[in-house]
Amino acid sequence: MSTTAHAIAAPGPGAPLEQTTIQRRDLRPDDVLIDIAYAGICHSDIHQARGEWGEAIFPMVPGHEIAGTVAAVGSAVTEYQVGDRVGVGCMVDSCGECDYCLADTEQFCVKGNVQTYNGVGFDGENTYGGYSRQVVVKDAFVCRIPEGIGLDVAAPLLCAGITTYSPLRQWGAGPGKKVAVVGLGGLGHVAVKLAAAMGAEVTVLSQSLKKQEDGKRLGAAEYHATADEATFDVLRGRFDLILNTVSAQIPVDAYLGLLRVGGAMVNVGAPGEPLSYNAFSLIAGNKALAGSMIGGIAETQEMLDFCAEHGIGADIETISAADVNDAYERVAASDVRYRFVIDTATIGA
Ligand SMILES: [Zn+2]
Ligand SMILES: [Zn+2]
Repeated sequence: MSTTAHAIAAPGPGAPLEQTTIQRRDLRPDDVLIDIAYAGICHSDIHQARGEWGEAIFPMVPGHEIAGTVAAVGSAVTEYQVGDRVGVGCMVDSCGECDYCLADTEQFCVKGNVQTYNGVGFDGENTYGGYSRQVVVKDAFVCRIPEGIGLDVAAPLLCAGITTYSPLRQWGAGPGKKVAVVGLGGLGHVAVKLAAAMGAEVTVLSQSLKKQEDGKRLGAAEYHATADEATFDVLRGRFDLILNTVSAQIPVDAYLGLLRVGGAMVNVGAPGEPLSYNAFSLIAGNKALAGSMIGGIAETQEMLDFCAEHGIGADIETISAADVNDAYERVAASDVRYRFVIDTATIGA
C-alpha cells in the first residue's frame, strides 16, 4: 500500500507554499519508510521553489535536510530497524555502478544522482522532499543519526553540514591550519563549528561585524569585516584555506591575496553571475581556486558521527507549517540565525 503523506508544496514557480497531501510509493525490498520529525529550510529550496534555477517540477515539495525515525522497512533491508534515528540529504539514488558511485562519491554519478526533490527517479517518478510527514527512501541513501544529536539540530547537517565538512576534509583543515570562512549564514555557521572541532584556527570574514559575538561563540578565533578594506591588508597571506559560502559577487583577487603560498579557496556558494579573477593571483603563489559539491553517503555518515562526537548541531529556529512562507522571506533577507527547521508534526495537523 502506498502511503498518503501530508506535505507542504509550491504549486508553481514563486507561488506561496501550501499544505497538501502526496503519495509515497509502496515499499520496495530495499526501501525505508521514514516518519520525518524535522526538515531544514535550505536557501536552495527557495531558489528552486521560485523557479530561479531553470526548469523545475511542480508541484514541488522541497526539503533535503531530513531527520526522523524509521517507521517500516522493506523485506531486504538489514541496516535499519523500526525506531532507528535516521536522516536523508540531497540525493536518494544513483546508478551504483559507475566509477564515482563505486568510489563513494554518488553526487557525481555519471547517470546523474536522483535529487531528493525536484528530481526524477530511475523509475520515472518525480521525487518529493522533506517538507512532509513521511518519505520513502532506498536504504543506501539513508544515514544514521547518532544518539547525542537532537533530530532538530541534526536535520540541517544533511545539507549544510556535509557541504562544508567535505571541503574542509578534502583541503586538510586541522591542527596548525588557518581557515577562513566567508559568510556566517546557514552554511557558514556550521563550517565554523566543524573547522574549529577539526582543530583549525578559524577566522570569519563577514560583510560587517554584526554577528561577531556569534562567530566567536561558534568557535572562531578572529572575526573581520570585509566591508573594511583594511581587512585585506591585515590578513594578507594568512590562510591555508578559505571556504567561501556566499552566493554573491566577491572580489576574488582580493580574497586570493589572503592565502598563503599553496593555499586554496573553495567555493560552495554559487552567485548567479560568473566570478572573475586574474590568473596571476593563482600563479604567483601556487594557489588553487576550487569548488565542492555536497559529499557522498559514506562521508555524510562520517560527518554525522563526527558531529555527534563533538556535540555539533546547527543553530536553529523551529517553525510550524504555517510559518514557511514567512521563513522563506526571512531566509532571502538573511534574517535567520542560522537555519529554519520545520516541525513536520504541524503539517496537516
Ligand atoms: Zn541544501
Ligand atoms: Zn553512478
